[in-house]
This record gives sequence, structure tokens and C-alpha cells, in this order.
Amino acid sequence: MAYKKKRRKKKYGLLTVIVAIIVALLGFLYSQGYLDGLLNAEDPVVPVEGQAEFHFIDVGQGDAALIRTADGNVLIDAGTNAAEDDLIAYLKAEGVTKLAYAVFTHPHEDHIGGADAVLEYCQVENVILPEKTATTVVYNRMMDAIEAEGANVIIAVPEATYTVGDLKLTILGPVGSDYKDMNNDSVVLRADFGESSVLYTGDAEDVSEAEMLARYRLNGKLDCDLLKVGHHGSDSSSTEAFLRAVSPELAVISCGEGNDYGHPKQVILDRLDALNVTYWRTDLLGSVVVVSDGTTLTKKAAA
Ligand SMILES: [Zn+2]
Repeated sequence: MAYKKKRRKKKYGLLTVIVAIIVALLGFLYSQGYLDGLLNAEDPVVPVEGQAEFHFIDVGQGDAALIRTADGNVLIDAGTNAAEDDLIAYLKAEGVTKLAYAVFTHPHEDHIGGADAVLEYCQVENVILPEKTATTVVYNRMMDAIEAEGANVIIAVPEATYTVGDLKLTILGPVGSDYKDMNNDSVVLRADFGESSVLYTGDAEDVSEAEMLARYRLNGKLDCDLLKVGHHGSDSSSTEAFLRAVSPELAVISCGEGNDYGHPKQVILDRLDALNVTYWRTDLLGSVVVVSDGTTLTKKAAA
């Protein structure tokens, strides 16, 4: 009896040591950040209920924007192929693994270059595309990735609407199709969250702007609080009449530092200044995040 008792005591002693070692090891791994991925495997930074975040991701000379709400995420464009690792790292850091909608505004490489990587990394429910197609390698790679993902493909039709919880998406352009310059085929998307609104114009130029003006002039559908300035701030876009119709208080220009195109053009910056628009540039600031509480849009301080 006494022998048995002694043995059991010894066994517990050994167990205590093993448990202590495991706890110490886990504590060390946690303190070194090795367990972050494990602990935060699914959406670690879910946006606050009642808020929407509008991210303009720095992908150099290209466009990539993300909308986050507690009910789901929307991506508008995926930047260049060269920046796809940066884009995926951004989504990873945000904990975004699912997209309710991915909008690829038009088939140019600086908008769809990272599309295949996004479709591989994220679970994508719906993809919104313009009617315009292309025969380029990057376009085919995107279409193959869409097929492999099994995402639902939606061809943009003006005034079609989609919702993600309280976020409402409305297609405003292109009004026509198969333009001489593919930039005008860009899907133009309006996002409404409560009383705040953001307009994403892709690379739509003056031709598309004029058609949207004619179609929406009387119903105020272009009137938004924040404008993603068309075509990286090129003077092919952002006509004064269009800017007046949108009448944004805020704007974001998505372009690369020291880019070869001279984007944004000074004439566009002057035009924004003359209309008292506060604008932020991704080439100078990196990624820009603006948060809506349903009423007011506020720029988040850089991390
Ligand atoms: Zn572009």
C-alpha cells in the first residue's frame, strides 16, 4: 500500500514538470509572436458593427481598394502583378480571407495584375466585370482564376445594385460599352453606407464622365462625399463638370511614387483645390484608410 502511494506521488511530480515545461514553452512562443497566425486564423480585425472602412491600398502605380464592414468585404481592383505580394500581405494583415464582391474595373494590368493572387488567397463569392474583354496573358490568368474559384460572374449594368449588410453598391458606369480607349470601359461603382458615400471611377475618362453626367444629372446619383479620382489623377479624367456633379469633400488619388506618367497632373490638383476638396495621395502617404460611422467620414491616422 505504502509502495503504491509512493509511486503515484512520483508520477504526479513528473506530470507537473511536463505541464510546467509546456506552459513555459507556449508562453515563450506567444511572447515571440509565433502563435499569432494560429490564434488569429479568421478575420482578427473585424470592423466595428455600424462602421465601414474604406481602404485605398498602396500598390504603386495602380488601383486597389477594399471596403470592410462587419458583414463582409468588397475589393475594387487588385493592382499590378508586381505589387501582388504587397496586396496579399495587406489582406493578410487585415485578416481578410473572404470577399463578398471583387470588382475588376477594366482589363488593364495596373488594375487586374494581382487578381489571380487574390482569387487564390481569398474565398470570393461574386466577381463584377465590365462587358469589355481582352486577349492579354494577365486577363486570361484572371479569367482562369475566376473559373477555378467558381465565383459568380456579374457583368456590370448601369444602376444595378448589390448589398453587403448595410453597405449598398450601385453600378453607375460604364453607360455604354466597347469604347475606343479601354479606360472608358471602367466599371464605376458607388458605395453607400448610411449617409456617407464613396465613388470609385477606375480609369474612366472624359468620354465616360460625360455620358454619366447626361444620365444622372437630374437624379444626383453622382453626388458623393469621397471620390477615388479617375485614372490616377490623369488629365484625361476629372473634368470640371464631372467634379462639380460629384461635389466630393474628400478625394483619394491612387498612384505610384515618381511614376512615368506624371500622375497626378497639376491641373487636376488645382481643380480639386479650387473646389475645396481635401485629397490624399497614395504615392506620398502609402495606404489611406477612411472610416465611416454611417454619418461622417474620418481619415484613420497612419499606423
Ligand atoms: Zn489604371
